[in-house]
Amino acid sequence: MNQRGRAWIELNLDHLLHNVKQIRNLIPANCAVMPAVKANAYGHGAVLIARALQEAGINDFCVACADEAIELREAGITGQILILGYTSPYQFPDLVSYSLTQTALDISYARLLNDYGQPINVHIGIDTGMHRLGERSDNIEAICDIWRLTNLKITGVFSHLCVSDGRSKAKKTFTLEQIKQFNQLVKALHQRGLGGFKTHIQGSYGILNYPFLRYDYVRPGIALYGVLSSEGDKVAANVDLRPVLSLKSLITSIKTLYPGESAGYGLTYTAAEERKTAAVSIGYADGIPRELSNRGYALVNGHEAPIIGRICMDQLMLDISNIPTVSSGDEAVFIGCSGRREITAAAFADRANTISNEVLSRLGSRLKRICTD
Ligand SMILES: *Cc1c(COP(=O)(O)O)cnc(C)c1O
Repeated sequence: MNQRGRAWIELNLDHLLHNVKQIRNLIPANCAVMPAVKANAYGHGAVLIARALQEAGINDFCVACADEAIELREAGITGQILILGYTSPYQFPDLVSYSLTQTALDISYARLLNDYGQPINVHIGIDTGMHRLGERSDNIEAICDIWRLTNLKITGVFSHLCVSDGRSKAKKTFTLEQIKQFNQLVKALHQRGLGGFKTHIQGSYGILNYPFLRYDYVRPGIALYGVLSSEGDKVAANVDLRPVLSLKSLITSIKTLYPGESAGYGLTYTAAEERKTAAVSIGYADGIPRELSNRGYALVNGHEAPIIGRICMDQLMLDISNIPTVSSGDEAVFIGCSGRREITAAAFADRANTISNEVLSRLGSRLKRICTD
């Protein structure tokens, strides 16, 4: 009996390791890959992915929050884990007991961390133009003040690019300006005798479009999973990325819809002529965007099967009229390959008016995650 259940994710870890190599080929030899495994490794399964990466020699990881970091520690991830976002003071004890590295979000947050009174490893976030987190790069006095906080052990300084995916002249100019500001800050810190810290600024698109940069780490997320954010994105680097994840479910029941009959909540789909329909055991609680009602499609036996009617929490319906032989128990592929056809995560996301990062990170906890290689 298969152990896949009603809906599942298949993971190709060979592709993950292939993508790591592709990224390593783009970056300097002394630059380390610090994968972004936040949001359950973009829905892939954080523990599974981080363990595979650790076995492949990766020692540094970044996550969004303390609970994600603790999950990795408890699963045996031993290297540096950088928390990119906010940690509440009630979890400062965890930063110490689990040896986590916390981002200093700005000077006042750095003071809060320092007030905890125990040594904490810190990377300082620098705002070079995104204006989300980080102390402003031109606020050198505040940044130096963070160094004077004696409980903080500053091991890194980093920034984040916000239009590195853009290929327009304006976006390239903006990105190069962010990089320039970051470099100027690092230089100013060195001139003041502050050193011994690592630097990093590139996520996936920073690597793929600005591979000539030379910092100590890169922080790839989406590219590591073998996926681009949007369909048709072009990148500067010559790189062969292979998707790690497939999303599949089962056809559980087949029926005939007669002319004039409707299907699903709200009766939003009506058959103009006789149709063959299939119920599939996956829904919006599993991460299929409800936006794809009467809009998306799945692949069944290598053919396109349109989603008809409203997507339910746990199920949806496909029109399988044009597919030669379908039976209950056949697979419906939402992301991945079926026969000679493929739905990429970016194409799937595009239909739902979003990016692959959002679709993947929202894949539900009910899905079984199965390694296929
Ligand atoms: C999520 C995140 C990344 C990874 O982004 P991708 O575009 O998926 O590579 C890198 N750095 C920071 C600060 C992030 O929040």
